[in-house]
Amino acid sequence: MALSTKVGNTSQTETAPEVRLPQASPMYSATGLDVWTMMNQVAASVGAVNLGQGFMSYPPKDFIRQAAQDALVENTHNQYAPPRGRPGLLEQVAVRFSERLGRDIDSGSEVSVHAGANEALLSVFTAFLEHGQDHEVILMEPAFDQYTPNVAMAGGIPVYVPLRVRDGCDAATHDISSDDWRLDMAELEAAITPKTRIIVLNTPHNPIGKVFTRDELALIGAVAECHNLLIVADEVYEHLTFGRNHVSIATLPRMWERTVTVGSAGKLFGVTGWRVGWAVGPAALIRPTLAAHTRIVFTSNTPLQEGVASALRQAAHNGFFTIQCEEYLRRRNRLIAIFADIGLPCVVPDGAYYLLVNASAVRARIPTDYAFPDFITERGANFKLVYFFIKEFGVSGIPPTEFYSDAHKDLANDYIRFAFCKTEEGLEAAAERLQTLKQFLRGPAQA
Ligand code: PMP
Repeated sequence: MALSTKVGNTSQTETAPEVRLPQASPMYSATGLDVWTMMNQVAASVGAVNLGQGFMSYPPKDFIRQAAQDALVENTHNQYAPPRGRPGLLEQVAVRFSERLGRDIDSGSEVSVHAGANEALLSVFTAFLEHGQDHEVILMEPAFDQYTPNVAMAGGIPVYVPLRVRDGCDAATHDISSDDWRLDMAELEAAITPKTRIIVLNTPHNPIGKVFTRDELALIGAVAECHNLLIVADEVYEHLTFGRNHVSIATLPRMWERTVTVGSAGKLFGVTGWRVGWAVGPAALIRPTLAAHTRIVFTSNTPLQEGVASALRQAAHNGFFTIQCEEYLRRRNRLIAIFADIGLPCVVPDGAYYLLVNASAVRARIPTDYAFPDFITERGANFKLVYFFIKEFGVSGIPPTEFYSDAHKDLANDYIRFAFCKTEEGLEAAAERLQTLKQFLRGPAQA
């Protein structure tokens, strides 16, 4: 490259040496966009109503925001927290989990605070997987998209077992329940090898909304026990169930000893940007998890740990969790009604805040000559469906095939995931936009 420099009064042109750098690791050098950025960009390009990413489009309740503001004012809250977490937050998490798990949780040894549930998960994987040992981790599909790279970063190998819609359900024409998605226990057993170390269990489930029953958990627990596996229970949506009880697998007989339960203040209080989460389990499991966390981020941010501690203290008495659940139930029912009106069936979720809509009728009507950009075409049929949906109907969702390994992607080709952690106005705006879809569905399917 030619570079002009001025030396004294004379100008000189010299050739800058080519900058040569080491290659980035193949794991991080892929040029492709992550699904969230990609779909947010597609949504923005047509000014779509964004029901894609699962962030709240409304502010947190006043007492929660105030808790954070108050925490910042206190001078001692602006320096490093202990790696395990601020004592006040450890105490509040222990109180909540003592009640939920029906046992006395020791805040000093059985809880660790993390930079969101994501970092808690990475810490557990890092603590229990070893590079070079080919340790395997069972992930149920659809699997939250952070699991696979986090397992790989920790040196593990993900092994996928898909949840499958029960025989006899016609999901393309009728609403089904999230409970119609089942884990085939024979498939789970078959996936386990002498190298398996961990089963990841997400309940309530993103994106299906399935809340695993006690019986299902007992079967999974029995497999874990039989093969001496650790269970990582991702329960970030534990507070959001609709007419069904959330059961923590750690409450089942002999399961506490082999389970690390992961939670998220971001989900609990609608503050996903605060990046505070936790892991709860026996001291023998939390100790290495904390050791890994100390090397990954050292400690999570202090003021918002204090803010969450205060919010937990207040929420224990002000009815917040009940009110919040009722609000989510209203939003869920509204979004289901919007799609029922249009004639697209969905998977009615028993928990969390996502709705899987079966859009096979839309997929069948995409014009064969529709112009898809390459970055969409190369990601397969489900990305094309979601792209088409956003561009033509102005409401954005997420392609759930992103939550699958290549071998099982086809199970999700007909679905679009919408998030209902959105304002009433947002949902109504989506309803209005989707009126054109009604008309579209009256047209003939493509041959
Ligand atoms: N697990 C699941 C199943 C999730 O859906 C999410 C967030 N979308 C997380 C973990 C991460 O939670 P956090 O924001 O606290 O890191």
